Amino acid sequence: MTSAWIDERTARQQLAEVAREIYGRKLSGATDGNLSIRIGDDRFVTTPSGMHKGRLTPADMLVVDGQGQAQGPHQRRRDGKVLKPSSEIALHLEAYRRRPEIGAVIHAHPPMAIAYTLAGGRLSETLVSEVVFAVGQIATAPYTTPTTAQVPAALGEYLACYDCVILPRHGSVTLGPDLDTALARLDALEHTSWIYCMVKLMGGAQPIAPGEVDRLFQLARPQPPPYRCADNACPPPEPASAPAAAIGSDDARLVAAVLQALGAGR
Ligand SMILES: [Zn+2]
Repeated sequence: MTSAWIDERTARQQLAEVAREIYGRKLSGATDGNLSIRIGDDRFVTTPSGMHKGRLTPADMLVVDGQGQAQGPHQRRRDGKVLKPSSEIALHLEAYRRRPEIGAVIHAHPPMAIAYTLAGGRLSETLVSEVVFAVGQIATAPYTTPTTAQVPAALGEYLACYDCVILPRHGSVTLGPDLDTALARLDALEHTSWIYCMVKLMGGAQPIAPGEVDRLFQLARPQPPPYRCADNACPPPEPASAPAAAIGSDDARLVAAVLQALGAGR
């Protein structure tokens, strides 16, 4: 796969551009989340830890090896501290190890996806057709403590099977052949979460016609999910203990007020 990857200079530019967009569109807080691009079999370019995503420049990006160790001369932040990769780079490296065909990983903290799943909403439900084409199936992994080795260990089997995975009470991971696709999947995740939340607030959706979900997956993918795992052992898209959706209100004034507040904050 060596020749397929983009060069370091282009990767640095793309990361700065997309990090700015993610921050500008409130898909993550200023220093939250991290992005990476594969530039070789054992070389990756990633955003540095603790830096404002809206102000990153191509020069701020770091090249790391397959163990997450920074390569090349140490860059310094404006406050003089040495730039270092995020502890969450382990999550990215696990994704690249599990999925040799992917070229980019975005870990973000999209607010509506986090809120909706925290309230008991299930994003693996197919209520709208476009999410199947953009993302396939959205999976929710079991809860793990952020920044610990638990995260890549528990997420590995999900990353092997799904392009969009929710980390409960934390954020999301979206994968793609390139950074634009990983961003489009993050965008589709948050957009879908908004629609699903509004549907719940408005009283719930009519179920999709029987057989239509399978038809959509057949159109969007060569096979319905689980479609990635070589040994055909993909985990289910929701934890077995996932609570039933608790969202909903039949108070029209409350719904209107919430929707107005959500729209204003967006
Ligand atoms: Zn995070």
